[in-house]
Amino acid sequence: MRTQAQDRLRRGHRCGALALTCAWFLIACSASAQPPDGDPFPLPAGVVSGEWALHGRGFAEQRYSPLEQIHTGNVAQLGLAWTFDDFVVRGRTHRGTQATPLMRDGVLYFTGPWSVVYAVDAESGAVRWTHDPQVDGAWARHACCDAVNRGVVLWKDMVYVATLDGWLVALDARTGEPRWRVDTLVDRSRSYTITGAPRLAGGNIVIGNGGAEMGVRGYVSAYDAASGRLAWRFYTVPGAGPDEHPEVGTARKSWSPRARWDLGGGGTVWDSMTYDPELDLLYVGVGNGGPWPVWVRNAGERPDNLFLSSILAIEARSGRLAWYYQTTPADSWDYTATQNMILADLRIGGRLRKVLMQAPKNGFFYVLDRASGELLAAEKYTQVTWAERIDRQTGRPVVSESALYAAAPRTVWPSTAGGHNWQPMAYSPQRGWVYIPTLEMPMTFSTQQGDVHYLPGANNVGASAAPPPERVQRSVLKAWDPVAGRIVWQSAPLPWWGGGVLTTAGGLVLQGSADGVLTAYDAASGRILKKIETGLAIMAPPMSYEIAGRQYIAVLAGLGGAMNGRFHAGFAALEYRNHERLFVFALGGRAVDLPPRLDKVPQRPLATGLPADADTVALGRQRYLQFCARCHAPRSVPNGYPDLWNLPPALYAAFDSIVLGGAMSYAGMAGFADVLTPQDTLAIRAFIVADQQEMRRNPSAKPPEQGTGH
Ligand code: CA
Repeated sequence: MRTQAQDRLRRGHRCGALALTCAWFLIACSASAQPPDGDPFPLPAGVVSGEWALHGRGFAEQRYSPLEQIHTGNVAQLGLAWTFDDFVVRGRTHRGTQATPLMRDGVLYFTGPWSVVYAVDAESGAVRWTHDPQVDGAWARHACCDAVNRGVVLWKDMVYVATLDGWLVALDARTGEPRWRVDTLVDRSRSYTITGAPRLAGGNIVIGNGGAEMGVRGYVSAYDAASGRLAWRFYTVPGAGPDEHPEVGTARKSWSPRARWDLGGGGTVWDSMTYDPELDLLYVGVGNGGPWPVWVRNAGERPDNLFLSSILAIEARSGRLAWYYQTTPADSWDYTATQNMILADLRIGGRLRKVLMQAPKNGFFYVLDRASGELLAAEKYTQVTWAERIDRQTGRPVVSESALYAAAPRTVWPSTAGGHNWQPMAYSPQRGWVYIPTLEMPMTFSTQQGDVHYLPGANNVGASAAPPPERVQRSVLKAWDPVAGRIVWQSAPLPWWGGGVLTTAGGLVLQGSADGVLTAYDAASGRILKKIETGLAIMAPPMSYEIAGRQYIAVLAGLGGAMNGRFHAGFAALEYRNHERLFVFALGGRAVDLPPRLDKVPQRPLATGLPADADTVALGRQRYLQFCARCHAPRSVPNGYPDLWNLPPALYAAFDSIVLGGAMSYAGMAGFADVLTPQDTLAIRAFIVADQQEMRRNPSAKPPEQGTGH
């Protein structure tokens, strides 16, 4: 129990001008015992407990803050302390934020769109420095899910960021000046991108990449933190050439000898990695297969395809594999195991076990012994139909034949967005529960008919997936007991695509949502204690830190990523201008001023003089869906990119200089002259005009559905 005297003491930290008094309180407070941290590892040297120095705060990535000044009894007084909104924006398209800010020595370090790094004073918001790595804007074409970034590594006197176009950059933490920069991509002719945060492991900075939908072969690379020298590289799937290391040979046994190596294989490490400094093991979450159906990857066969959708335990210094666990053998549903992994020590069956926990896309919550890889538990945390259960003896799923869509379309739970995506879950050692931002939606899968040919810079999934018309589509925060394998409480349904989670010693769980609300829940009961309306979708996870005795909660806001392609019902971006912003909250803060409401765009005249014959329009439709629809939604569906159904006439006139010539590359609109001809772009315009006419004749007609993934 917290006493009123303690509350007064903690409120006393906010005295500001009375520096001496504050200093005394600070000493008094640090002498009073911190609540048990729960994290099995000590913080890195030089880091103090009020800081947030690593991606998930500590090495275990529990996303639990031991601070308790803000607690269940006073969170109602949480308000805005300050904001930062001076983000680099290219053109008119806002790409949103996904990063976890880090805080050390009174400075917050975070990233925004285009891999730009910001260092700001954590008390005032004053800018210390900004580093723009000048990402090649045309590289956005290679990204499945926008020019976003999930954060930096902060280690000794350096900050490390990985860029959308594949560079790992080391910066001086005091000045932002680059120290070194290495190209992490093995093949720049393929659509590799980086949106994930690097990790620190055994003196190395480790980074993977994305692109499994675009035809790449996955791998993870480790670089010496001081020099940038490549320490090791681990390929997650085999390729056409000789095996680069013994583990590739192990994996190859689980692929058809006639596998489609030209389509990449997938297995990208695009987000989660966690490091156990005691075992010196780096846990790596591996992504889905590319193309999606195992039968397309393997000439009609259905082998396991290691190390797709697996958790790998890699020796951080040597790069050798210690163990692996495959969550979805023969993945055919975009079921990445790249979701965040939390390390904790849990009492299971009377024994204290060192565990790793993950809720990957496939809908099962896994508890593994992180030393041996032994499966300790695997229960459904959401609706799952692709498998009945996980066999505890073999560790393998009992796959439902009804989920296999080689012969006919099949509707499967969860969707390609997963039961849980990159938005991190968090663990509270106070309760022993994990708080999972779940996504609930089914998806109907079909196999692509005919031969699958590799298309550069385009989707190469060999399948299509779309939500069924009567779909459920919602986000729900679930409190999960990992030992009992059951839901303890869950939130009311939230709009699709929620935010990441923070837990605190004040008994709180905090999560943002796409409707622009930051919600504080009672971690024990799920009761809502505070809602803060921001007018901006929150995808990123909140974090917390303390300076001069005052606890802050910081969260990045702004919609982008996979959701920039289509705004769903309830999104704040349907009502307000979607601009990136960092919010920092504290007790006694003020209300948030909402962003300006969207301007009404007048309906512009239709372009004239374009062909209208059925063949041209059909070609244009096909090309549009193949190359354009991944970002620009059809039929003025509201999204974050320019509305091609209502372009100013001058842009129609400049269509080829943009679409073929790349005139807007800097803003993220690459040229497509390698895959499109002037006849194609004429047909695309003809299709758009024909569809505009149809839309004006029949305004209630629905545009075709697009898939959702990552
Ligand atoms: Ca994927």
